[in-house]
Amino acid sequence: MKFYRDHYDVIVVGGALAGLSAALMLADKGLDVLVLERHNLPGGIATSFVRGGIEIEAALHEMMSIGEKNDRLKVGKFFDDMGVDIDWLKVPEAYHASLPGLEVTLHPGLETFAKEVDAAVPGTYDRVLRLLNLCHTVFDSVNELSVHPMSKPMMLLKHEAFVKTAGYSTREVLDTFDLPQKALDLLAPYWIYVGSGFSDLPFTIFAVLMADYIGYGSYIPRKFSHEMSLKLAERAEAMGVQIEYRQNVEKILVKDGKACGVRTARGDEIRADYVICSAYPNKVYTSMIEPADAVPKDAIKMVNGRRLSLTAFSVILILDRPAEELNIHDYSVFRGDTMDTDALYRDLAGLGPYRYLTCICHNYANPGATPPGTCSFSITTLPRVDGWKTVKAEDYDAVKHRVAKQMIDDMSAYYGVNLLDHVLEIVIETPMTVARYTGAWNGCIYGYAHTMQDHIVARLQTAEAEHFIDHLEFSGAHQISGDGMGPAVTNGRKAAKNVLDAMAKEAAR
Ligand SMILES: Cc1cc2nc3c(=O)[nH]c(=O)nc-3n(C[C@H](O)[C@H](O)[C@H](O)COP(=O)(O)OP(=O)(O)OC[C@H]3O[C@@H](n4cnc5c(N)ncnc54)[C@H](O)[C@@H]3O)c2cc1C
Repeated sequence: MKFYRDHYDVIVVGGALAGLSAALMLADKGLDVLVLERHNLPGGIATSFVRGGIEIEAALHEMMSIGEKNDRLKVGKFFDDMGVDIDWLKVPEAYHASLPGLEVTLHPGLETFAKEVDAAVPGTYDRVLRLLNLCHTVFDSVNELSVHPMSKPMMLLKHEAFVKTAGYSTREVLDTFDLPQKALDLLAPYWIYVGSGFSDLPFTIFAVLMADYIGYGSYIPRKFSHEMSLKLAERAEAMGVQIEYRQNVEKILVKDGKACGVRTARGDEIRADYVICSAYPNKVYTSMIEPADAVPKDAIKMVNGRRLSLTAFSVILILDRPAEELNIHDYSVFRGDTMDTDALYRDLAGLGPYRYLTCICHNYANPGATPPGTCSFSITTLPRVDGWKTVKAEDYDAVKHRVAKQMIDDMSAYYGVNLLDHVLEIVIETPMTVARYTGAWNGCIYGYAHTMQDHIVARLQTAEAEHFIDHLEFSGAHQISGDGMGPAVTNGRKAAKNVLDAMAKEAAR
């Protein structure tokens, strides 16, 4: 059976958040779009599954860049503008920090957060608020500059704080505020969501993270992250996008230096003017381009030169009691025996024991997340891909169970309840699960690490030079907006914008 047309304007490889957002934006401009997804359902990591009759979120802890209904941030606004109606639920707190000498719950809102830090570490309010306001100013600049690039002198005039801090690490900027260690510890827990220790993390990234999460709070969809995937796919199809599932793209076809179509595992060759790909550039440049000699040497240098960021190890438990009865009182707990992010980052290269855990109880934002009388509780660590690459097939089960047991034991000791006595369902997701399910290179969920050597500002400047094959765009965590479900949407939109800009340029010639 042939279910393809002879030609499309754009083929999108991967029907997850990034790919579907790109498809939607292109369809909105009247283009003919085909999405090819190797699974039998949309969403990639943004998915859920059923065990023992209970639907279980596969990944999402919290989404950034959504905002309140009347004051949407860019991702929430995109869903609204595209007619993708998500039932957003606000997460009730920023996080509970369980750190040496600290048990503190902090809430979103810059002033609220600063007051709560001050209550735990008196005398810090003004400095913490000044720091959060600086983060917010940088965040506003990044949002404006990503849409309206401007000359360096203009940038200096209009975005002084951004320019002044762009060359500094998070550690260097934090040091200028002269805050006591405990206050710094309370400001650090989200570091894991961007995956670099503070000495190597550009302040720009920290600022955006803090301003978005602390300034506006975070959200989850009532029907799990798969609500986004299903509704994006449904809307895309209603707008004329053709989505075909169980279609693994093996090759991206290139002619005269330009992508011109794809070949699927089934052997279909499908033609298009442009290809947008969610697979990692590492995979595309090393095995997906046909002919292979159409890959410039610099493309291989680029993927070899970039450091892959973090992967995920998650234990998801469905427990046989409401959360309060198990002493679980928060939506989100970050727990560590130190908040030295550089040391924690070094440890993430190993196979545990992991010293920094992030735990989520969805029921606190979404009381109907599990049946009455039960709750869901996940314990996650985000290791570097390096350690997990060394695990041999014959050792995999033992390593997986050892790491999961350590994490459950740690949290059981914290709550004073043996969580294993209350398990209705247990699922262990490892870096291998992510790699197998989405095809992510080495199971990496965060794309390329943000470092002082590979800084987002430099990446913006080299983006054009790193465009190695014409008419081929990438979307996904490996692109400029980086990791996470919100950024995946933004990365997809950016890929679509690049296609539209290139089309307009060619039409003007
Ligand atoms: C345990 C865990 C917790 C997380 N928590 C959060 C969180 O709280 N907040 C947050 O914002 N983010 C979180 N993330 C990260 C977030 O899920 C991802 O960054 C985001 O979903 C990536 O979306 P994507 O569209 O870029 O890629 P993916 O979801 O990886 O999708 C890629 C898609 O492309 C398809 N594909 C790949 N290759 C091919 C091919 N050759 N042919 C056809 N199809 C192909 C795959 O099947 C897949 O559907 C978490 C991830 C994990 C694993």
